[in-house]
Amino acid sequence: MDIKTASISVMRKQLGIMDAIKESERCLLCKDAPCSKNCPAGTDPGKFIRQIRFENFKGAARTIRNNNILGTICAYTCPVEKLCAKDCCAQGLDRPIDISGLQRFACDYGKTHSLEAFEKVSGNLGKVAVIGAGPAGLSCAAELAKSGVSVVIFEQAAEAGGVASWGIPRFRLPDDAITNDLKNLTDLGVTIKYNSIIASPNEAAHLLKQGYDAVFISIGLTEPYKLPILDGYSNVIDYINFLRQAKTAAKLNLNNKNVIVIGGGSVAVDTACTAVNLGAKKVTMLALEGLAELPADEEEKAIARQMHVIVKPNSKLVAAVVEKDHVTFIKGTEIEWVVPGNFHPDNAKPIAGTEFSMQADYIVQAIGTRPSSEIAKIASTLQTKGKGTIVVNNDFATNIPGIFAGGDVVNGGATIVQALGEGKKAAQSICSFIRGK
Ligand SMILES: Cc1cc2nc3c(=O)[nH]c(=O)nc-3n(C[C@H](O)[C@H](O)[C@H](O)COP(=O)(O)OP(=O)(O)OC[C@H]3O[C@@H](n4cnc5c(N)ncnc54)[C@H](O)[C@@H]3O)c2cc1C
Ligand code: SF4
Repeated sequence: MDIKTASISVMRKQLGIMDAIKESERCLLCKDAPCSKNCPAGTDPGKFIRQIRFENFKGAARTIRNNNILGTICAYTCPVEKLCAKDCCAQGLDRPIDISGLQRFACDYGKTHSLEAFEKVSGNLGKVAVIGAGPAGLSCAAELAKSGVSVVIFEQAAEAGGVASWGIPRFRLPDDAITNDLKNLTDLGVTIKYNSIIASPNEAAHLLKQGYDAVFISIGLTEPYKLPILDGYSNVIDYINFLRQAKTAAKLNLNNKNVIVIGGGSVAVDTACTAVNLGAKKVTMLALEGLAELPADEEEKAIARQMHVIVKPNSKLVAAVVEKDHVTFIKGTEIEWVVPGNFHPDNAKPIAGTEFSMQADYIVQAIGTRPSSEIAKIASTLQTKGKGTIVVNNDFATNIPGIFAGGDVVNGGATIVQALGEGKKAAQSICSFIRGK
């Protein structure tokens, strides 16, 4: 964690042993624990909180890891207020149990107290290729390996973790949380082939011909949307390139710059806070939505406030003032929604007399992403829909026998835990498919 973020009080807190026991003692030990019912990845807070309460810390770590291969990452990033903690609130407590804090405590305890490694299962249930080492691919691979399937993951990047590795800023998710979880995959004997992009014509079908019994596609969303008004200028960047550079390039320095982030969602907030950390003088998020409508989570909005990110709500970009190859000012107008509650750009109506202009040194576009338009290269007859997401049935099977898919490339962009859950379910379907062959 760096200097600017170290003092932010809304960051998820690290619990020591005494804090963890005290917090677990607030738990009502509900029968049929509601917190355990809706986790897409099958994490069981009711069970691991009980184990912490009775000081079985390693048991708690084991419970989490056995259900959720990326338990540490989820402890840092899960939107708990919409999932397990939401159901906990309904139990009459004045505030929900700090489930993510307890999960992190247990995972950290497991790491520092040498929780026994997963044992490689020496089964012989075929061979599966997984394309993409993000949360969906990693969880699918882990479940398959636990069932005795030999798994090879093809990952285009030099590291595994998907968005968790290249995108989520370190002040929210430290590198060692990712390393801790990835070790589980190594212990299970999963092979990851890095710098291996699957993109030549019909490569998934070739993998099947090469002896893989099934293929799981989990390539996430890779093409950021861009506004034509801003496209091609030297000081305009999309959030994928920006966040990736912020994590890897030593020279990305925004000292004394006026940064404008276009967008009002969680990704825009991560982008804006990262710009603050890189030394920006002023960071403004330009959002179509009103303050109460911003799609970012409350926790993220609180971090943005503490980092002095300015939000210009109900505002739409209409033009760019350009000098040579870079944008010097943006021009915008305030808007109102034609149909209230429909937050689509086409539904935004400019309000006359509210035009404004803002000086810009650096602009990041964070207005969403879609799957790769080159998805057909992976499998030419793969059925897609809408913005290019892959169509699957309830078993995560695509229209091509033997090819399965899950995660963001199927659901259009959700959460880490959702991608994990889909990877797990797909693994069960893949095992049934192989057994039926
Ligand atoms: C900035 C940001 C912050 C976020 N914060 C949170 C958060 O706090 N909490 C949360 O729950 N969710 C968060 N999300 C959403 C979450 O990260 C995603 O829903 C999740 O990562 C999706 O997992 P996935 O495995 O489907 O895809 P990804 O994580 O995108 O992984 C896909 C992988 O496939 C690889 N790949 C792509 N194409 C190919 C190819 N042709 N060949 C080989 N490999 C390929 C990619 O390199 C990548 O490693 C955030 C998203 C962003 C962008
Ligand atoms: S719902 Fe809340 S109080 Fe009930 S078992 Fe889960 S964490 Fe404990």
